[in-house]
Amino acid sequence: MEELKRFKEYVREMGKLGSAAALLNWDQQTYIPKRGHEGRAEVLGKLARLAFEMLVSPQMAEFIDKLDRPEVKAGLSEQDRAMVRVLAKEHRRRKAIPPELYEQFVITTSKAHSVWQEAREKADFALFKPYLEKIVDFVRQFAELYGYKENPYDALLEDYEPGLTARDLKAIIEPLQRELVPFLKRLLEEGERPRRAFLRGTFPIKKQEELTLRALRAMGYDFEAGRQDTTAHPFTITIGPGDVRVTTRFDPKDLLSALFGSIHEGGHALYDQGIAPELRWTGLDDGASMGLHESQSRTWENLVGRSRPFWEFFYPSLQELFPRFRRVPLEDFYRAVNYVEPSFIRVEADEVTYNLHIMLRFELEEGLLNRRIEVEELPPLWNDAMKRYLGLVPPDDAKGVLQDVHWSAGYFGYFPSYMLGNLYAAQLFNAAKREIPDLEKKIAKGELLPLREWQREKIHRLGKISEPKELLERVTAEGPNPQHFLRYNKEKFSEVYRLH
Ligand code: ZN
Repeated sequence: MEELKRFKEYVREMGKLGSAAALLNWDQQTYIPKRGHEGRAEVLGKLARLAFEMLVSPQMAEFIDKLDRPEVKAGLSEQDRAMVRVLAKEHRRRKAIPPELYEQFVITTSKAHSVWQEAREKADFALFKPYLEKIVDFVRQFAELYGYKENPYDALLEDYEPGLTARDLKAIIEPLQRELVPFLKRLLEEGERPRRAFLRGTFPIKKQEELTLRALRAMGYDFEAGRQDTTAHPFTITIGPGDVRVTTRFDPKDLLSALFGSIHEGGHALYDQGIAPELRWTGLDDGASMGLHESQSRTWENLVGRSRPFWEFFYPSLQELFPRFRRVPLEDFYRAVNYVEPSFIRVEADEVTYNLHIMLRFELEEGLLNRRIEVEELPPLWNDAMKRYLGLVPPDDAKGVLQDVHWSAGYFGYFPSYMLGNLYAAQLFNAAKREIPDLEKKIAKGELLPLREWQREKIHRLGKISEPKELLERVTAEGPNPQHFLRYNKEKFSEVYRLH
């Protein structure tokens, strides 16, 4: 079909613009000299504008009009149908927002970023409040413009977790909350806390780097199709076909943060490296959703990287680089990497407490979108929820409501992806265990490739062809089910904490 061919060619050109922007972006976050930032921002702005114009152009409108029809789609391959679905949705959503409104939003959020930074430094919510009020006002308008059936939150969630609704999230959160809060309490009151004094000390960066590279190689990260560099806030980025890069951050006083950071980003990178070559520059060459993407990083970081079998294999490598650990038994080390501690800060949270941080944010965001909450009420509401979920009250707003960058950028609906990532990871890992014989024994022997191959076949290869719910159903024969995570979490930590 001629129209389809031209559409694909057009989307390919958009993909190339994205690729150029990604490389400039990567450079901006790694090696750019300080004085290069201003000019770079302008170049990135120009590329973003070109990509935006291509997405909302009359030409694109014509493609969508001709292709996004049931009788046309019925005759397309699954991949082409998915391409039409994804591009039509992006096109409609971008067009739903008047350009002047969007421009005001971009100006507000770029100012808000530095104001948020200052407010966090000074622990002064009042500084940030007027900006956040404006941003909430924007996202409320966006939700109305995008449209929704039941809850304005759904309109925003769609960007991150297509097909999922606030109602779905509430159904997932309810059992999690009911069981995790008392379980955490029990762990802390009755459990035997792991020792971790042996993790204190200084760990040369060169050796840490070698450790992260060994982990990435074992996972099957392809260094001929990527590289690892250092940055302030680690991320993974796909520059283009055959080029998926990871970043990490080394702290000489902390042996584990770079290692688990690299494994986490490596999990993201395996996803992108595993996308089928025929999906390149089709708009389908990304993860099925943010939550699915996060599930792959969490699988490697937690279900593999913080498991006993992994350390049976990897501990000798760590001991070789850091001989002081020859005195520390494997079991002690394994327990130490699974230390549980309620803390104020989400990004430092462990596997048991992490999701509680997300529930709190979802509760507040959903309240804001539905106008049950106003911005000025956030600090006390935040602290109340912290007390309910984690038994802690932040000493100030820097360690509370001001800690995350997301709201200053207008990212409402983003946080649940982190929680879904944890849940999907447990659900998918159970499927992998059913289908890969002796998976855990293989991991203990350092054979990690069968897991990567399984993920590639079932998930990575498919890119965005399926939406997350459908993909989970395809692979695990059920939709999102929090019970997998709950069971995994309780079994593992009951044992680590020696609960009886
Ligand atoms: Zn991640």
